[in-house]
Amino acid sequence: MAYSLPLAAFYLKEFSKMQLYSTQKQSKEVSFQQAIFQGLPPDNGLYVPKQVPTLPASFFDNIESLSLPEIAIEVTKALLGDEIPEADLERCVRTAINFDAPVKKLDEQVYVQELFHGPTLAFKDFGARFMAQLMGYWQTKQATDASATQTQDIHILVATSGDTGGAVAQGFYQVPGIKVVVLYPAGKVSPIQEKQFSTLGENVTAIAIDGTFDDCQKLVKQAFLNDELRNQLPLSSANSINISRLIPQSFYYFYAYAQLKHLGKKLVFTVPSGNLGNLCGGLLAQQMGLPVHGFVSATNKNNVFPQFLQSGEFTPHPSFATISNAMDVGNPSNFARIKEWLGDDYQAFEGKITGKYYNDEETKETIKKVFAHSQYVLDPHSAIGYRATQEYLANKDDDIVGVFLSTAHPAKFLEVVEQTIGQKLPIPEKLQEVMDNPNKNLTMSNSFEEFKAYLMKAFAEA
Ligand SMILES: *Cc1c(COP(=O)(O)O)cnc(C)c1O
Repeated sequence: MAYSLPLAAFYLKEFSKMQLYSTQKQSKEVSFQQAIFQGLPPDNGLYVPKQVPTLPASFFDNIESLSLPEIAIEVTKALLGDEIPEADLERCVRTAINFDAPVKKLDEQVYVQELFHGPTLAFKDFGARFMAQLMGYWQTKQATDASATQTQDIHILVATSGDTGGAVAQGFYQVPGIKVVVLYPAGKVSPIQEKQFSTLGENVTAIAIDGTFDDCQKLVKQAFLNDELRNQLPLSSANSINISRLIPQSFYYFYAYAQLKHLGKKLVFTVPSGNLGNLCGGLLAQQMGLPVHGFVSATNKNNVFPQFLQSGEFTPHPSFATISNAMDVGNPSNFARIKEWLGDDYQAFEGKITGKYYNDEETKETIKKVFAHSQYVLDPHSAIGYRATQEYLANKDDDIVGVFLSTAHPAKFLEVVEQTIGQKLPIPEKLQEVMDNPNKNLTMSNSFEEFKAYLMKAFAEA
């Protein structure tokens, strides 16, 4: 569609390049390009943008006529300024955000936004695909600029307990200048999850480690700390705290508003939460001017953040295993960003972010109830979002509507969902396709020497 607000011009005057600082305030400020390749600042804080631009009223006046990619392009341009030429930026965003995020009505005041229409059927596709496109852009550019000397492929190491590996592997699949190595605990991820990263091949190598998820994480950490490896092989991570994974998680909040603006009601978003990256995406959108009345952060039994909202005490603990396992986080890593934005005093959070948490029984009960009532099938993470929204709205006026983010397709959690509703689920085509492909993974012990030898050999062959 023809859409030509002079937004780019507006920002070039005000704001030409994103600068980021560390929440620990020790490391120096960096550009977005530096932050995306570095991941973490050297002082172990998290990068946050120094200035967050406010989108002009004209953007919000016309937002209902924009598609999700069109919104994503405007938001990215506003944030990144002229760090990437406009045509390249548009191409990256359109390639990354090539699926929809529809909002559907479930109850009188309750709406669901489905974030699971990407290739791996979970919202992590937004972050991983956006990050992959931008990294790929800079790798290709570097290869062209330095035509004489050969540029090296970057190796991205990622340890996964299930969901992240698939999103990262598929996001970076066939992206030039980048190789991905996914480490996962052999036999400890679901067959569907394993298929999503181990059947790809080409620039994606999956390694089944004879050990636990913690062993996989340790191998990745050891590789980053190993001087010999680091000197020879450009390594990077696709960690969820990378700023480039956070920015695209703001797009769909704007898009939900675009879809519900005609109601003329106040909007509250419920975010099923683990590391709080998704919630940070919403807070970023709000800072850019999105009219959000409030957020509900909903967790499972790993309720460190809701506890903080209640008491002011932030008490990390080893994580508990639950049926909503992508939220089994005992020390949410994005908390530092939230404090940076909202301040240290938890009372300042009141009315802005409400915490709720539920156990596995309550989660299953909710899946069952919603299915019986509206034939809508929720995955365990989204069920927690639904229940928190219902309870939040119970004592509120009817000028508020609640939107909960559905973070995964129910077929990704097939066993527990089918058991709970007592019915078979149809398997979406995207999942069926990978299920039919053969696994191409390597297998290794959990010894660092073996992993290091593999990486050195990969380097020698590159
Ligand atoms: C990662 C994930 C979450 C938690 O998101 P955070 O950004 O870590 O808070 C929730 N649901 C699903 C399905 C996920 O994969």
